[in-house]
Amino acid sequence: MSSADGGRVRPGFRHGGGTVKGFVHKDQFPRPNLNDSLEGEIQAFLTDEDQLHTYDDLTKVNPVTPTTVLKCLQARYNARVFYTHAGCTLVALNPFQPIPDLYSVDVMKEYHCAPQPQELKPHIFIVAEEAYRNVQGQLEPVNQSLVVSGESGAGKTWTSRCLMKYYATVAASSSVVKSQDIVGRIERRVLDSNPIMEAFGNACTLRNNNSSRFGKYIQLQLDRYLQLLVGASVQTYLLEKTRVACQPANERNFHIYYQMIKGATDEQRKDWKMPCGQHFVWLPNAEKTVEEDCFHETVEAMVHLGINAERQREIFRILAGILQLGNVNFSPSTDESQPCNLEEQSKGNTFELLFSIPTEELQLALRVRTLKAGKQSVLKPCSQTECSMRRDCLAKVIYAQLFEWLVAFINNSICADKSMWSFRGCLIVDNSFLTFCEEYVSEGLQWSFVKYQDNQSCLDLIEGSTVSVFSLLNEESRLNRASDCKMFRVRLEKELCDNVNISWDKFSKVPHFTVAHYAGKVNYQIQGMVEKNKDPVPPELNSLLQKSDNSLLHQIFTDKETDNMTSKGLSKVTVVSKFKNSLESLMKILHTTTPHYTRCIKPNHDCKPLTFKKEEVIMQLEACGIVETIHISAAGFPIRIPFTSFLQRYGLIAKYSNFQSESDCASKYTLSLLSQHYGLILAVLTLLAFVSQLDLLEDQRNKILS
Ligand code: ATP
Ligand code: MG
Repeated sequence: MSSADGGRVRPGFRHGGGTVKGFVHKDQFPRPNLNDSLEGEIQAFLTDEDQLHTYDDLTKVNPVTPTTVLKCLQARYNARVFYTHAGCTLVALNPFQPIPDLYSVDVMKEYHCAPQPQELKPHIFIVAEEAYRNVQGQLEPVNQSLVVSGESGAGKTWTSRCLMKYYATVAASSSVVKSQDIVGRIERRVLDSNPIMEAFGNACTLRNNNSSRFGKYIQLQLDRYLQLLVGASVQTYLLEKTRVACQPANERNFHIYYQMIKGATDEQRKDWKMPCGQHFVWLPNAEKTVEEDCFHETVEAMVHLGINAERQREIFRILAGILQLGNVNFSPSTDESQPCNLEEQSKGNTFELLFSIPTEELQLALRVRTLKAGKQSVLKPCSQTECSMRRDCLAKVIYAQLFEWLVAFINNSICADKSMWSFRGCLIVDNSFLTFCEEYVSEGLQWSFVKYQDNQSCLDLIEGSTVSVFSLLNEESRLNRASDCKMFRVRLEKELCDNVNISWDKFSKVPHFTVAHYAGKVNYQIQGMVEKNKDPVPPELNSLLQKSDNSLLHQIFTDKETDNMTSKGLSKVTVVSKFKNSLESLMKILHTTTPHYTRCIKPNHDCKPLTFKKEEVIMQLEACGIVETIHISAAGFPIRIPFTSFLQRYGLIAKYSNFQSESDCASKYTLSLLSQHYGLILAVLTLLAFVSQLDLLEDQRNKILS
């Protein structure tokens, strides 16, 4: 029987994963047999290719090798099957085209209503449903986390959206309460937070037309008793704000700008001083159209979330002002004691209108630095390069503050009133991070739970609290000395010379260091690292913005934490320290949850529909250690149910049995394993077999069950 029917993947249809001749373990505990004539088995495995797509769970593949796993995934992809279990991880292959009905409400309901969703075809909804049931069903429900990882364009954001839609749908359909109206609105608002955050935080890159340029996790707040989604909160990390002022070749600025220039009315263009045909330096590749260029959708979502017309006007004026900043150019003055000249096109009262600050004051602040000497202030003209840096810095800080304000506004609008719900949550982690931290975090999240692979020494090298790249970077940033790049390099080489995970090419023209990550070696350029970590905003610009008559601009710069400043006016908070704190708080939350992992795989780097490139997929499989994950799942016990929960769930069957202690219950893991691999019937049979040997004292059982 084929697993595909004309492209539509039907949930409910079960593959005969356990019946394929020659490939499935005959014993009850499938374990990869890596010692016995490996080559021969791979050969045997590969000869029956027409059956490969029937493997719902890669732990059933024998032997588990990169080749067999790859072949199996490829066969499934060709058969239009995009999800496969890999023990406790779900592998999601990106189809790069909409698959009709794969995520419809009917399909959601099918998974939601199934007595045993694990028995349906692998799907992201199984992960969602499992977490949902854990939240509200068990004796001691625990918060759940759904960690979605993968490389850029693999489908993390898509998957996160699917999960949110699932909860917004199933957690509403079971509603019986009168407050349906309020709850209904909250669900809508939770979903509406996506288009806004994507408009402001996503951009078209070489790898993905809708690439998230920030990391985020979303906490969905579920009412345990009413089974309703009552709210959500969003936490974001490290917005790639440099993109506002500097777009890599052939990439674009954030979507919101293209939405504005493509979707604005004539009236809005006039208000934003953005006439048709005006060239904006910071808007490259505007001719490229992507699906996300949808201004109307963003505005509609803003309205739903309660951003009124006046606030919207302020937001778009600020954004337009940033664009105008990009057109400001400087040329050196013939008299060195005078500030640089401004080019003709940048004059006028644009900023007065858009930022509601006097244009002349702004132009001066961009070109002249105020130095404090005791109580006296000295004005010093900036060089041409310094002027450009100040301009870029201003644009970045305004955009980043605006983004933070939006996230805070969204949270205010969607976060549930704590008195309304007994908190149980599902945390969705869209695990995309940037540059240096991107590499680090993906490893951090990936491996901190899979202790099998010892990646600790590399993590210590990067973020260890004693001597690490992060600690040295922070120290150098705080010392704030002139030659900080050079000094940082010297200190790195001196302090970390014994660490095997880091190396240097002393003869390279571009100073850099190389870190041997689990997934491979990565070079990091030292130039600019300290400066970027300090992330300084000239104080003159800061105070100028506080004077703005644009109430939003005024608010976001006045609220900016003044207590984070040192006596010298420098920020105590570096990029790395902020990131490390966010990461630590995320890890703390994750450790108190039951994690569910989804690994998204990008089948080809050109984002072509239904195209599977073996070499590209195998690299991703290796990078995420999926083969090791399968080994661990197959050899170990992927589901661990606490003793009391186990008793509550299955204790009834043990009517005539003795079930005195946790040690009596050693077979509970066996049960979970069996139910995963061979379905409920076999699991129950096994359960009956072992509980019959036990003799549960009646009163003890009743006590627990009550
Ligand atoms: P980044 O790290 O750059 O943010 P990402 O992992 O979040 O990347 P997505 O933006 O989620 O990647 O996915 C990239 C594109 O792949 C989507 O815009 C969509 O076109 C397509 N895609 C992803 N998953 C699916 C799916 N399940 N079905 C159909 N298309 C998909
Ligand atoms: Mg994304």
